[in-house]
Amino acid sequence: MLDKVLIANRGEIALRILRACKELGIKTVAVHSKVDRDLKHVRLADETVCIGNNPSNESYLNIPRLISAAEVTGAVGIHPGYGFLAENADFAEQVEKSGFTFIGPRAETIRLMGDKVSAIEAMKAAGVPTVPGSDGPLPDNDQKCLEIARRIGFPVIVKAAAGGGGRGMRVVHSEASLIQSIHVTKSEAAAAFGSDVVYMEKFLENPRHVEVQVLADGQGGAIHLGDRDCSLQRRHQKVLEEAPAPGVDEEARAACFEACVKACIEIGYRGAGTFEFLYENGGFYFIEMNTRVQVEHPVSEMITGIDIIKEQLRIASGLPLSVKQEDIRFHGHAFECRINAEDSKTFMPSPGKVDQFHAPGGLGVRWDSHLYAGYSIPPYYDSMIGKLITYADSREQALEKMRIALDELAISGIRTNIDLQKELVRDSGFKQGGVNIHYLEKKLENR
Ligand code: ADP
Repeated sequence: MLDKVLIANRGEIALRILRACKELGIKTVAVHSKVDRDLKHVRLADETVCIGNNPSNESYLNIPRLISAAEVTGAVGIHPGYGFLAENADFAEQVEKSGFTFIGPRAETIRLMGDKVSAIEAMKAAGVPTVPGSDGPLPDNDQKCLEIARRIGFPVIVKAAAGGGGRGMRVVHSEASLIQSIHVTKSEAAAAFGSDVVYMEKFLENPRHVEVQVLADGQGGAIHLGDRDCSLQRRHQKVLEEAPAPGVDEEARAACFEACVKACIEIGYRGAGTFEFLYENGGFYFIEMNTRVQVEHPVSEMITGIDIIKEQLRIASGLPLSVKQEDIRFHGHAFECRINAEDSKTFMPSPGKVDQFHAPGGLGVRWDSHLYAGYSIPPYYDSMIGKLITYADSREQALEKMRIALDELAISGIRTNIDLQKELVRDSGFKQGGVNIHYLEKKLENR
């Protein structure tokens, strides 16, 4: 097992990683920006290193500082968490070249999946269902692009191969605007991502977001931990997630799980990962793979009993997976509400000091957060301050637990989105299950 791990992140995920390290007897190094010295995991870590000023590019995104912090503390592994450098292939490469273990996939895997065109090709080759599309980059020929669009059928979506974070894509409804849209997306992609490679897909009009959690040891062992539904989104940001995805066609689901596991083996995947799909009319359509742990990983942990971060640490230590697929028992249902320091109505961020804080509790209630009374939320980073997770035998019971837990959760001094979450868990459409990715934004428009 790795002896000492540097946690290259902050907030709730840094604390989550610290807890898993402690359980495995791994020593911990917390790195932090100046303002973050009071973070909960910094106080609980074996060693701490201040790596720079508050802006992320001077601290959590500063590769030389992170690597020197590992050198001076004698850490052997670096866990990137999510966000920041977690999907940066250059970082993974530099970590490994400097003699440390990157707790994640190999740099070339991150690179392969970071380019959406190559990711889709690799997935198709492994039998993972993909969205009908251009099968590769769009050619530099307007007539050929038009033919591709006609073959796919309008509406189509033009996407940057190097895009991310919901940026670098454009929906096209008719032939008239196709060519201009391709040119605009290309120049935007060149400016934003340094590559003007774009591709085309059928635009699915009312899909759900369903994703599959996988774990692979890079030694031929790969398993899936089922699916999650993350359709409740605002501006491509997930708000409330659940596992398993309700009301999914069982046959399509089983085939999809099998294909994801096969793809992991074929690309020599190592670590935790997520295959993201759009799900429409009973079919799964791959859109991208995230080569890291996800914010919403706890809902999969609840329904399987598998600690995903501990598995990541074991895999990085060179150990095989601790479980086989046939040993995994899927049981019950879990929800996760992301709690953000932002206004429930305007979504304006609301950093500042937390005066009072009371966490909910009870059987099947989990609160993953770095919050404490007296803690000051800095304005520099993501506004997520905690994740409330509930688990019960059935979807109805887990949702009822969430309603009660949200009513118990009390945070004062700042504004939060707790009221929005309370509204969502009482929403009649959501209670039924299976709403699509536009549901939340439509609901907000009608407020
Ligand atoms: P990013 O890496 O920027 O998140 P994705 O490929 O995951 O890009 O797409 C982001 C979002 O854009 C999806 O969650 C979905 O809402 C929408 N989207 C992407 N491709 C399609 C498509 N073919 N049809 C409909 N919506 C799509």
